[in-house]
Amino acid sequence: MNDYQTLYLVFVLLYLAECVKWTHRYSILIYSAIGNYWHVKFASNSLGNRTGGFAFNNPIPPLGYLFHYRPLPFSISPTAITSFITQVLTDGGQPKQLKRVFQFDQIKTVTQNSNHININAELFLSCRSEADAKKFIAIISELKAIDKNQRARYITDFISRQFDIQQISTTYKTYRKQTRILRLLCNILWLYLLVLPLAIINYLGITPVVMWLGVSYVVFHLLTIIAFVIAFRQLQPDFMNADFYSRLAIILLFPPATIRCIDLVTYDLFSDFHPLASLHVLASDSTKTMFAKKLLLDLSYPIFDESASPSIKETCDWYNTRQIEIIRKFLRDNNINPYELLIPTFSESDQIKSYCPRCQTGYSVTKGTCPDCGQIELIKVEQN
Ligand SMILES: [Zn+2]
Repeated sequence: MNDYQTLYLVFVLLYLAECVKWTHRYSILIYSAIGNYWHVKFASNSLGNRTGGFAFNNPIPPLGYLFHYRPLPFSISPTAITSFITQVLTDGGQPKQLKRVFQFDQIKTVTQNSNHININAELFLSCRSEADAKKFIAIISELKAIDKNQRARYITDFISRQFDIQQISTTYKTYRKQTRILRLLCNILWLYLLVLPLAIINYLGITPVVMWLGVSYVVFHLLTIIAFVIAFRQLQPDFMNADFYSRLAIILLFPPATIRCIDLVTYDLFSDFHPLASLHVLASDSTKTMFAKKLLLDLSYPIFDESASPSIKETCDWYNTRQIEIIRKFLRDNNINPYELLIPTFSESDQIKSYCPRCQTGYSVTKGTCPDCGQIELIKVEQN
């Protein structure tokens, strides 16, 4: 292998590293390799730990689509707030959570320290970014300011807004339109840096074309940066903060990151919406119903570890129940029976005598708990 081939190989590895994203255990990714068929995926269990894992984006043009969703990282009820959520749709179990709980009438101060939220000068939650911390503080402060009787309506409206499919549809159309030029430029850079070098090294030789290619690459690189800033400004103006400018500097100086810069515009674009509502707009009915089933089972049969206090359980139960009601209504409004979705199906030859209501695994014993779901009691299968 000569020097040019070694250099090319290093570049390809750096590029592949840009296609991999560290993803939190309770993040939900909606993914399409070419923009037609959408799937749901999660952080890898095998390449990860209790907090998160790696998720891979499509490394070949047209660069794929990857939308990222994270549930609200705290649970709320009309009386209390806890930095604990039960929702976890991956097999890796609950990520580590702080499990702080405060009654709203006990809250005196809510302050931000970088990406941390402090309540009464005590760490309540560490957020993914400063922008998230600011957004969540606004929600907590609004809940604190209103009367207990108004909080149920506030929380219900907050969840319901995530199911605005008209708004999701409009945002998606705008996104496709506003990123058309950026996507084209990213694909041109991909050809310049990953395909053309192969032809040059193997067939054309370096000397005759390197100057011409270098100059034209710089032009496309700068055009891509300009298109990125314009698209980001139009689609995610709230996130043009310190994080954005440090990332912009990397994109400017590091070509593998420049090729993938459209991911930054895409990643959190729909994070204020519910993934089920996004799937309704983007994905097939079977993808949507499979996800709805997984979500409803997870919310209906949550897993609490021994350290969760009664106050935490009460708050999570209230919040989960509110989510279940809204998801069921959303499904009914879209001609899906939420109760039929949850009926487990076993063939008689399986000799199933009981099943876990959470993961719907069948067992040959008549009672006990599910080893995969901890304390969840098995339900006896009624024989016909
Ligand atoms: Zn189970």
